[in-house]
Amino acid sequence: MAAARKKILVVDDDEMLRSLAADLLSAEFEVHTAVDGQDGWEKASALRPDLVISDLMMPRMHGYELCGLLKGEGGLPGVKVMVTSSKSFPTDISQATAAGADDYLVKPYMPDELLRRVRALLGLDGEPPKPQPEPARTARRAAPTSAELRVEPASAGRLPVYVRFWGVRGSCPTSNPGVAGYGGNTACVELRVGDTPIIFDCGTGLRELGDSLAREFKGRELQGHIFVGHTHWDHIQGFPFFTPFYNPRNKFMVFSVHGAHGSLGRIFTQSMSLDYFPVPLSSLAAKLGFVEMKGPVDLGAARVSFQHMNHPGVCIGFRVEVQGRAVTYLSDHEPFARLGGTSDLSLRQDAEIAAFARGSDLVIREAQYTEEEYTSRKGWGHSTYDDAARFALESGVKRMAITHHDPYRTDVELDANIEYCRGLIAKGGGSTDCFGAREGMRVDL
Ligand SMILES: [Zn+2]
Ligand SMILES: [Zn+2]
Repeated sequence: MAAARKKILVVDDDEMLRSLAADLLSAEFEVHTAVDGQDGWEKASALRPDLVISDLMMPRMHGYELCGLLKGEGGLPGVKVMVTSSKSFPTDISQATAAGADDYLVKPYMPDELLRRVRALLGLDGEPPKPQPEPARTARRAAPTSAELRVEPASAGRLPVYVRFWGVRGSCPTSNPGVAGYGGNTACVELRVGDTPIIFDCGTGLRELGDSLAREFKGRELQGHIFVGHTHWDHIQGFPFFTPFYNPRNKFMVFSVHGAHGSLGRIFTQSMSLDYFPVPLSSLAAKLGFVEMKGPVDLGAARVSFQHMNHPGVCIGFRVEVQGRAVTYLSDHEPFARLGGTSDLSLRQDAEIAAFARGSDLVIREAQYTEEEYTSRKGWGHSTYDDAARFALESGVKRMAITHHDPYRTDVELDANIEYCRGLIAKGGGSTDCFGAREGMRVDL
């Protein structure tokens, strides 16, 4: 007597395709059908089929979720899953594979091809299914080595060093004629040391920096270092749009600290997962590595140290020393004494941050609110212009660029607020040259 026929469940919300597949398979198999993912999950649980053939885009429950349920804990042990979909994007194929699909057949398919793949999956005859693209894994990525990381050594003589602002907005990018003077892109600052860009934060300003670097380094290898103070959206949204990442000749290292909920690499991998972006991080062509800083980083001619700031989650500021010149980048921050009251501890913590910046030729520091606005924004993790002025007086830095401008702040208001801040510094007897950071502005050091 012949063995019992294998059981197949066809899940598709397209009635015609569902019937076609069912007709085709029923000569050889016991076939059941379901009209969408939810129906498919219920019927699969009851029928325990050997194979589920599922569409991807269906109402109530899509194919990725169904795959996950069938193959996950509480699923059907031993069940095979074939996804059939008209979506032929490599990311969909790798994502379905990651969700548990054993095979992926792009629609429209030839009847013979379906039969051949089904037989192979069920271990009947035919060849086993073609190997699927590997799901995205950052561990497989080639990272630059430490020897490739160095900025030109000090022996190269005095290197030209300058800062250029590419994104000066905080919280959210903005665009309207009233803000065009200072610019609407979020946090991104370039510190150029000779031929090496050292980049602070990857807000939307990073896109234009990337295009500029791609033009400048056309046909040449580009090596850069990216320091991310924290990974809130306004500091990472430009990351996938940085065109130098798509050139296999280039090498970048991303530095920060471990995130509140996971590793630095994981945060960036997730930010480019299919739910957020069409291209996975593993597809970036450049050599890319992630370093969770435990202390100062020696880049040869430049040395970068960090300091924890007061901001919801994990947030650090950076200080770069290059051949006797120092630049400090401090965003985002709400002074400890402002938020927690003037206890010995909070005063000491604020003094530590001022000391971290002391002696800098340039401090890039945030100030997002007026004193009046602050009353309703206390605890949001940002400073006022008064805080910035106090900071200039305490740290005695040479120059201070105010950045992370509130998205609602117009050019006219910003001019007035910066003037107010300069007035406070002068009144306090300070000599810090304070100015508002604008997109495109260059400061030589
Ligand atoms: Zn921010
Ligand atoms: Zn933030």
